[in-house]
Amino acid sequence: MNISDRLKQLKPSATLAVNAKALELKAQGKEIVSLAVGEPDFPTPEHVREACKKAIDEGFTRYAAVPGLPDLREAVAAYFNTFYGALAAPEHTMVTNGGKQALYNLFQALLNPGDEVLIPGPYWVSYPPMVQLAEGVPVVVPASADAAFKVTVEQLEAACTDKTRVLLLNSPSNPTGAAYDKAQIDAIARWAIDKGLFIISDEIYDQLVYAPAEHASLCSWWTRYPEQVCVVNGLAKSFAMTGWRIGYVLAHADLIKAMTKIQGQSTSNVCTFAQKGAVAALNGGFGVVDEMRGAFRARRDLAMQIVGSWPEVVCPVPEGAFYIFPDVHRHYTKDIPDSATLCTRLLEEAGVALVPGAAFGDDNCIRISYAVDETTLTTALDKIAKVLFK
Ligand code: PLP
Repeated sequence: MNISDRLKQLKPSATLAVNAKALELKAQGKEIVSLAVGEPDFPTPEHVREACKKAIDEGFTRYAAVPGLPDLREAVAAYFNTFYGALAAPEHTMVTNGGKQALYNLFQALLNPGDEVLIPGPYWVSYPPMVQLAEGVPVVVPASADAAFKVTVEQLEAACTDKTRVLLLNSPSNPTGAAYDKAQIDAIARWAIDKGLFIISDEIYDQLVYAPAEHASLCSWWTRYPEQVCVVNGLAKSFAMTGWRIGYVLAHADLIKAMTKIQGQSTSNVCTFAQKGAVAALNGGFGVVDEMRGAFRARRDLAMQIVGSWPEVVCPVPEGAFYIFPDVHRHYTKDIPDSATLCTRLLEEAGVALVPGAAFGDDNCIRISYAVDETTLTTALDKIAKVLFK
């Protein structure tokens, strides 16, 4: 087969690879616990499911406007306005197949060949490949566990060149759970705006921030600098709707039009009746989200109680999302020299599936998702400790 050169440089998703291996072992009859997945274990709220079923019966089964149903764009604008005072109108929004497609559209719309994108590391696995698919150059700016996985303005300044075009922020972060506070976000945003950069803020975990921490959104920066800022969000993580593929963006109307052109020539509109479910989610109150946040918080505390007691392991307390990202490299040996080998051992010897830190740009770490019930979490962490401290 002749596959394009563009694709040859692209790595397959590491998270999906771990899942595939875990499924293979399961099929052989092995008992596998997965802490590898990035999705809530809760069902989608009932009123959202009901709204979608009703929409099918009412005939919302046809093609629809590419950037989204008018009532959903209205609800998305209201979301950004209510939570973050964005002053957005529906024309500043667009509905995409998950936050993933929002990011893909953005890079396609913003980058020319050779444009550099600053990506604070550890980073979500899909960022660098998406930049590469748009012929851009990902430039990772790493922050270690010792720095609480947060980059500084000085680090960004040192990585910035005359080719830098975009700064990508992700707070709270997948894989670290680190959430920048308002002062930190404001300092970074001020720097990027003054540099003339475009900021993409991936805020898909904004509803999963644990008090006393508060989500620091870039929405107010969008309001002041609409030509230099956009915000990506979606319903996958906050409403347990990963399979629905509902993402959305807050951006300048011209950028929305550019992304609509890309989406119109690739996927067209997001599933019409799924959008109706999304309207019900955004307009139906956030009590269900508060409940899930409470459950995740309890699991975060439980996970940190256990992992925090592991010797010679550095693990900053994550303020958001549903991952912890312990630095375990002091336990690497000749036999287990890196995170990939460790995760293979954990899967084969302990039956626990995790994603190696190397996939997120930090080989010292492993990513543990706590989007599982508390018994599963405790059992899995005990098993990990047995392999790690053998
Ligand atoms: N951004 C981050 C940081 C994520 O972790 C994910 C999903 O794992 C996404 C974006 C995309 O989410 P979705 O496409 O499911 O809305």
